[in-house]
Amino acid sequence: NRRIVLAARPHGEPTPDDFRLEEAPVPEPGPGEILLRTRWLSLDPYMRGRMSAAKSYAASVEIGAPITAETVGEVVASNNPAFKPGDLVTAFAGWQDYCVTDGKGSRRVDPAVAPPSTALGVLGMPGMTAYTGLLNIGRPKAGETVAVAAASGPVGSLVGQIARLKGARAVGIAGGPDKCRYLTEELGFDAAVDHRAADFPDALAAACPGGIDVYFENVGGAVFDAVMPLLNDFARIPVCGLVSAYNATEVPPDPDRLPALMRMTLTKRLHIQGFIVWDFASQAQAFREEVGGWLKAGRVRYREDVVEGLERAPEAFIGLLKGRNFGKLVVRVS
Ligand code: NDP
Repeated sequence: NRRIVLAARPHGEPTPDDFRLEEAPVPEPGPGEILLRTRWLSLDPYMRGRMSAAKSYAASVEIGAPITAETVGEVVASNNPAFKPGDLVTAFAGWQDYCVTDGKGSRRVDPAVAPPSTALGVLGMPGMTAYTGLLNIGRPKAGETVAVAAASGPVGSLVGQIARLKGARAVGIAGGPDKCRYLTEELGFDAAVDHRAADFPDALAAACPGGIDVYFENVGGAVFDAVMPLLNDFARIPVCGLVSAYNATEVPPDPDRLPALMRMTLTKRLHIQGFIVWDFASQAQAFREEVGGWLKAGRVRYREDVVEGLERAPEAFIGLLKGRNFGKLVVRVS
């Protein structure tokens, strides 16, 4: 059982030395338990928070423990009548080849419905984040403009596509011309803007001539600075992620923008709400049915960035926080 453990807490950007590949015995399933062999491992930005000791909404990974991750695994031994060998199920196995679980919180994955890896992406946690955050907090109406950053990733790409299904204009913000082209040419976004280009704030303003009614916040930082002046009265801002700051070691020494943001919240009557996907756990079934239906009907598309081999997880994860991935980042473990 190969596993990748947290060797040290990263300071700033993680480095390969913060991770260690170890061998451990394959665990034995006890009464009521199943043994899973990991097939697919999800790499997600939230893992950077788990590597830190800072207090957050979930516990940190201990030094020496496998990094947390959701996986799709194959049942190889079962002492639980609900699962039989060969079944594919989701689990929080972490960065390792095998895990034992009692199956609570696991979901069976039907490869006839969609490729199993989609249970970690468009039909899994990131897809549900886009669906619930946009529909409950963003509440886009026909004719409105919805802007989203990290727009080629699993969350942002679905936010933009659902916005369009609701009759809104979708404006994607992404790093580089290839990702921007993908958004407009393959996903049908109305416009895409490269946040790395020198004229980014002007280009964003040009792409949003009627202002922004919903800004789905995935990144923060310079992107939010460019969005702020474009927000319309009564704009809604689901605060989903702030990936531009996940490697930060201190608050940037910029001018204090809090008074300006508070004034704008008042004068423009902004609705700013942070959320964690599990706040909407009761909508999981509705999400899977509706997005599953759109996927089947070809009304929603997705893209995966597949990394081969567990040993490559650290470098792929380091790249995720810098935009090296193009689509949902998954590791094919076996
Ligand atoms: P992505 O696959 O989109 O990967 C993150 C992307 O962020 C990178 O590819 C990069 O894209 C972009 N990025 C990184 N640094 C910057 C920067 N400085 N400025 C602008 N963009 C940057 O990730 P996900 O779709 O999985 O996640 C998107 C966001 O949603 C994250 O913030 C994540 O933490 C959050 N999230 C929140 C959840 C919740 O429950 N609240 C649940 C799931 C995800 P590019 O090349 O385009 O810059």
